[in-house]
Amino acid sequence: MIPFNKPYLTGKEMHYMYQAVYSGKISGNGIYTKKCQSFFEDRYDLKKALLTTSCTDALEMCALLIGIKPGDEIIVPSYTFVSTALAFVRQGAKIVFADSRGDHPGIAEECLESLITSKTKAIVPVHYAGVACDMDKIMDLADQYNLIVIEDAAQAIESTYKEKPLGSIGHLAAFSFHETKNIISGEGGLLAINDERFVGRAEIIWEKGTNRAEFFRGEVNKYEWKDTGSSFLPSDMTAAFLWAQLENIEDIQKRRRSVWLRYHKELRSWADYNNIRQPIVPFYASNNAHMYYLCFQREADRQLVIDRLKLLEIHTVSHYLSLYNSTYCKQQGYDTDQELPMSDYYSDCLLRLPLYFELEDTEQEKVIKALTAINLKKETIITDRKHQKLVAKST
Ligand SMILES: *Cc1c(COP(=O)(O)O)cnc(C)c1O
Repeated sequence: MIPFNKPYLTGKEMHYMYQAVYSGKISGNGIYTKKCQSFFEDRYDLKKALLTTSCTDALEMCALLIGIKPGDEIIVPSYTFVSTALAFVRQGAKIVFADSRGDHPGIAEECLESLITSKTKAIVPVHYAGVACDMDKIMDLADQYNLIVIEDAAQAIESTYKEKPLGSIGHLAAFSFHETKNIISGEGGLLAINDERFVGRAEIIWEKGTNRAEFFRGEVNKYEWKDTGSSFLPSDMTAAFLWAQLENIEDIQKRRRSVWLRYHKELRSWADYNNIRQPIVPFYASNNAHMYYLCFQREADRQLVIDRLKLLEIHTVSHYLSLYNSTYCKQQGYDTDQELPMSDYYSDCLLRLPLYFELEDTEQEKVIKALTAINLKKETIITDRKHQKLVAKST
């Protein structure tokens, strides 16, 4: 079986975790936590980086930092992972869902202005597949309407917008080191702070509402309850694991990029012939090879390809379901009849191919051969899956 994803270990993870354990300090904010945070602060020129136990946690910290109150509105793409919205909903925000672009699953920048009201507090662009949203447009709007921009950079490590690292542009940003991402620590995340205003409070919110971090640096002689917060910091064992990955970040990225490029080149004429869209990377964006996806014309075409590859023991997967008409949003009384056609389109028609460090050239060749053997024009497809189900029932 060729899986969709396989977490890659560099080989040094256990060594550094052992070091962390035997250093005698394995709770949060230890040696490896500091190493990882400095790595990102230097590499991406951040005002402050704080490791968290997940990207979801980093987004929850953002909601606390910007002081979300019930009734505040947050603009979020509908085509994203649940956490992008959930982190703000937990603080009482109302989510205003934006559609995706026609050429790319990223947020449709041109529809954002019409979604802004007097209650809007923030915009949360998601850099889907590590490909940048048009950040100049989004930051200009934020300036004009006095909004906060929080980049959901969960998939965007090592990617850029006009040469600037993603995660270094919005006021705040959140990265993920979940095992499905390019750089992993099992579960894990990072809050990136680019606006000086948030630096002091972030550290307090991170450490259960206390100024313990200041105390550890010897800046105060007692620490106490100062603010809201939670236990957002990971143990130093998680940071030690992450450090082994960060040391190899160049190699990991190089391999992933080469797998991505091979798909892109070798599937091009087949995709053109079958009216399948390959990913686009706008001129202002770079490609961190987080994901290789294809967009079909119809859901039935996607299903046919999934089934055909499954027979050959190749696992390919769809991605998000639109959030705006999710069960949760229905229960919460959201307008589930609004029209977000591109979000629905990507929910129905986008397919992700196996892409991981250890994908062998011969395995990738097998995936490419399996795909290019399919001629969608010749396949007789029952277009509507509902119809298909009816047929199944009636026989
Ligand atoms: C993976 C992902 C998340 C969640 O990350 P966790 O670290 O699992 O909390 C959030 N947003 C996007 C866009 C993601 O891809």
